[in-house]
Amino acid sequence: MPVAPRAALMAFLARHQRFLLTTHINPDGDAIGSEVAFARWLRAQGKQVRILNDSPTPLAFEWLTQDDPIDVHEDALTERLFSEADALVVLDTSNRPRIGRISFSLDRHAIAVAIVDHHATHDGFGQVNVVEPDKAATACLVFELMRAAGSPIDTRAAEALYVGLATDTGYFRYSNTDASAFEMAAALVRLGVDPQAVTTRVQASAPPGRLRFFGEALTALEMLEGGRLAVLEVGPDAFERHQLTGADTEGLVDMPRAIAGVELVALFSEGKPGRVKVSLRSTGRVEVDQLCSRLGGGGHPHAAGVLLMGSRADVRARILPELSQLLAALDAAPARGAAGA
Ligand code: AMP
Ligand code: MN
Ligand code: MN
Repeated sequence: MPVAPRAALMAFLARHQRFLLTTHINPDGDAIGSEVAFARWLRAQGKQVRILNDSPTPLAFEWLTQDDPIDVHEDALTERLFSEADALVVLDTSNRPRIGRISFSLDRHAIAVAIVDHHATHDGFGQVNVVEPDKAATACLVFELMRAAGSPIDTRAAEALYVGLATDTGYFRYSNTDASAFEMAAALVRLGVDPQAVTTRVQASAPPGRLRFFGEALTALEMLEGGRLAVLEVGPDAFERHQLTGADTEGLVDMPRAIAGVELVALFSEGKPGRVKVSLRSTGRVEVDQLCSRLGGGGHPHAAGVLLMGSRADVRARILPELSQLLAALDAAPARGAAGA
């Protein structure tokens, strides 16, 4: 009989000693928070741990990494860390291309891989794959694993897990917010998390240009499909003028959710010319992950994304008709109950 994934992961962690942790490109709060908590968990067991990501840690989460530094990919460094490690743990993605340039080293090194993730759209590529799509955040999984192992969770680990949980649930507003999310939050607060202080640290980190950039994008907001589809677009010129990077769009796609009657929001973000990041959000009735998955991306039913090559006009022409079809299917289908997260 196959070993259950969680038990297989515990055995995997026990039999290795030198760990490398990584996550997806343009890491979010769940990616960084899960890595920091996981690193602390392993270090407390006397394991050697390094964290290495393709992309730099956003300013909003840097404070979490004070005692658990995160390295950013450089060819020589990545090669060295791979040769020093005997196991790789991939957090918050189970889609190999999503770990960016780290995946090139995977081809060259015979290293054991374990995945800990909550995305449904891809098969895990590890020897061990703990992929639980019903979890609101990867941080929920890490929390449950630590609890089940009876490992102490110190305040910093609790803060890291709280950041993962809070950011992936939109601060307990999105459809993935369930009773267990609140139970976990309560447990983390008892472990020393100050929600107000943590939220301020994460949210009060934007340069003024970021709000001006949001303002410009929102001014150009388009309402299509009889007001059911909100579309935002940002181009390389705006990123450059405000000295921002791709990660600075974080939160923008969620703003049109506030408009009455909106079913879907699409953001076309062209950070570098010819590379358009499509972010899709559903307010609950339409599912967008399959569409993204089909085009090489992925995500969750109500929040998904894909990176496409081409002009913004080309990418719009590929995506918008698909969104119209999803909305048309909604008209055709009988009304149903609350869609899953
Ligand atoms: P975003 O629109 O970038 O905030 O992403 C929304 C959700 O979709 C997150 O859970 C991401 O992990 C996932 N996602 C975004 N882009 C991709 C991609 N290119 N491939 C797979 N998953 C993605
Ligand atoms: Mn993530
Ligand atoms: Mn996540």
